Amino acid sequence: MNYNKKTVKDVDVRGKKVLLRCDFNVPMAKDGSGVITDDKRIRAALPTIQYLLEQGAAVIACSHMGKPKGQVKPELSLKPVAVRLSELLGQDVIMAADVVGPDAQAKAAALQPGQIMLLENTRFEKGETKNDPELAKAMASMAEVYVSDAFGAVHRAHASTAGVADYLPAVSGFLIQKELEVIGGALANPKRPLVAILGGSKVSSKIGVINNLLEIADTVIIGGGMAYTFSAAQGGTVGDSLLEADWESYANDMVKKAQEKGVKFLLPVDTVIANAFAPDAESKVVPTGSIPDGWQGLDIGPETVKLYCDAVADAGTVIWNGPMGVFEFPKFAKGTEAVAEALSKTDAITIIGGGDSAAAVQQLGYADRMTHISTGGGASLEFMEGKELPGVACLLDA
Ligand code: ADP
Ligand code: MG
Repeated sequence: MNYNKKTVKDVDVRGKKVLLRCDFNVPMAKDGSGVITDDKRIRAALPTIQYLLEQGAAVIACSHMGKPKGQVKPELSLKPVAVRLSELLGQDVIMAADVVGPDAQAKAAALQPGQIMLLENTRFEKGETKNDPELAKAMASMAEVYVSDAFGAVHRAHASTAGVADYLPAVSGFLIQKELEVIGGALANPKRPLVAILGGSKVSSKIGVINNLLEIADTVIIGGGMAYTFSAAQGGTVGDSLLEADWESYANDMVKKAQEKGVKFLLPVDTVIANAFAPDAESKVVPTGSIPDGWQGLDIGPETVKLYCDAVADAGTVIWNGPMGVFEFPKFAKGTEAVAEALSKTDAITIIGGGDSAAAVQQLGYADRMTHISTGGGASLEFMEGKELPGVACLLDA
């Protein structure tokens, strides 16, 4: 996949209607009060929106929210987003009552340069997730240029994320541009040595990433729950730890592949075990592969922490996907925190991908010391797997 795409700066948008795909899929209060509990995604969209408005474009913003499955679900309306966006921009945001219906069409037709409107939840339309060309055409017909800035949705080939690019010149906004520059750069032409730290809960959800990064990285580091499948595959006992027995042979294949490719492959040498999956469980440190029955590994141990921190110290680039332990429990967050701290101290380009990894780095207070924290969980995972992202592939090459 070509990561070098045209951006908003490469097209003339003055006096033009711009269809802007944002990721406004924000968390909402569960009580149906329409209160947005975290507006990070709305704020992240501001630079592109403000640039377009300053350039004299008329902006027709759109996004999905939740999974209404092609039905109009009032609790998944984007109205609260329009209100918050209007506060942040300090200007009116015109809310359409539908996606491509008469209200959206009329409001889009009347929209003036410097004005912004928001279409209703794109997934209120059945054709959205099916990438229906009729829906894509109807959305495109309201605008003259398509700008995509919803990195969190680029791994989906939907009408508003990819289909519309068949009918309009398509470029990236600033959010996608940065993701492509930093992650794409690290994958295509990394500053070496490239160290990949892979953790999280399951091997099965990370197979693609491990496999792809083994092709690219100089060192691959394994932590988190998936380490126990590697340990069991090597004949260790893992007690009640997370284990995917079906993936043991795959784990061995990955170790072998690393050897063949001359990639350094680091597995934990010790682990913090607990007598229950609980924040206040009794805990102790044991060597890898010797976890007694009734105990489970919830974090990497102190020797492993040293080993991993040494391995990143002189890295050129570090890609990190997946926490080292159950960081949600402070007692078992030490491994994840130590790695975050080590990354904050290196001169390396540091890239965090994955929803929980981003949350961990934020929660532990290291977010502003990383080069890049991806705004897309699933999208960054597929990016690191080396898969083609439909919402990127559809944009014009630079
Ligand atoms: P990401 O979202 O960054 O890709 P994952 O979703 O793969 O990461 O994994 C994150 C989850 O893995 C966290 O909720 C964390 O508690 C869990 N986890 C990490 N280590 C362990 C472990 N040893 N046992 C159980 N769960 C773990
Ligand atoms: Mg996750």
